[in-house]
Amino acid sequence: RRMIETNLTEEDIKIEGSLRPQCLADYIGQTKVKENLKVYIDAAKLRNDSLDHVLFYGPPGLGKTTLAGIIASEMGVNMKVTSGPAIEKPGEMAAILNNLQPGDLLFVDEIHRLNRQVEEVLYPAMEDYAIDIIIGKGAAARSIRLELPKFTLVGATTRAGLLTAPLRDRFGVIHRLEFYSVDELKVIILHSARVLKVAIEEQGAEELARRSRGTPRLANRMLKRVRDYAQIKYDGIITEEVAKTALDLMDVDRMGLDYIDRNILITIIDKFKGGPVGLDTLAASIGEDAGTLEDVYEPYLLKNGFLNRTPKGRTATDLAYHHLGLEIPS
Ligand code: ADP
Repeated sequence: RRMIETNLTEEDIKIEGSLRPQCLADYIGQTKVKENLKVYIDAAKLRNDSLDHVLFYGPPGLGKTTLAGIIASEMGVNMKVTSGPAIEKPGEMAAILNNLQPGDLLFVDEIHRLNRQVEEVLYPAMEDYAIDIIIGKGAAARSIRLELPKFTLVGATTRAGLLTAPLRDRFGVIHRLEFYSVDELKVIILHSARVLKVAIEEQGAEELARRSRGTPRLANRMLKRVRDYAQIKYDGIITEEVAKTALDLMDVDRMGLDYIDRNILITIIDKFKGGPVGLDTLAASIGEDAGTLEDVYEPYLLKNGFLNRTPKGRTATDLAYHHLGLEIPS
């Protein structure tokens, strides 16, 4: 299994619960987002009101779900969880909304994947705290309005641009989550190691942090894989050497790039003379879905200067050549 797998495995779900920070103060990094949320949460509590609807966007594993849970616990309300692909019919969305208690937080993961009719149920719900239900058929059909309690919708998506404008406009607060720094990831890894009772040295944690692609979910995943390795091959302690050896074996390089990342860069360089190459062509050449390429792989490569996005397509940077040990064409 690849490290950068976007789908959650059963193991992820099992341990992520125990590793998730419960309050804003324990949530590492994302300083700007945290500062803003704190103000909104405090203000809403002061007014004894529900929080405005919030949209989080950014690559998977950066802490969107975790933040939603923290908002709920800071507000002292219940969180109901669903996702875009899980709701197929408008009636299902209406039922979920109708079952909310006053103040509840409804978390909708992958909110860009709601279909149009389902999404339309959300418009009056978010704006007026009401849903319109059609009763009867044909000429006798009429619409009645059902009042809902005030609630907070927290949506998560990989890119804000994937949302339709009417849905995006209904969020009062929109925040992008950023990749984490090595120092921040190190703190997260050391904390996870304490919770999971894994023996790890500072330098071991730092090596893991460097290679976890700025992503807490990957950091936690790697911690477990490297722990296994340390137990079988060494005396159980994750030192810098253990982390390096184990991650090399897992094909995660010193910048955190895995086989697919390198394949993306090598394909641009070898097959397309360094680019530019369009997203769809590139995706077809490496056998990946274009959406996954854009939402999961590209952001980290762009952020770290391995890839450029130009109007004509993607190009590999000098740093990409350098990282792969290839000569830059003159
Ligand atoms: P997303 O919803 O963006 O895909 P999650 O909220 O599920 O990401 O985060 C994945 C895991 O990473 C969580 O279970 C949590 O353990 C860890 N995590 C994410 N953000 C943080 C953070 N800021 N501090 C500590 N751990 C974090």
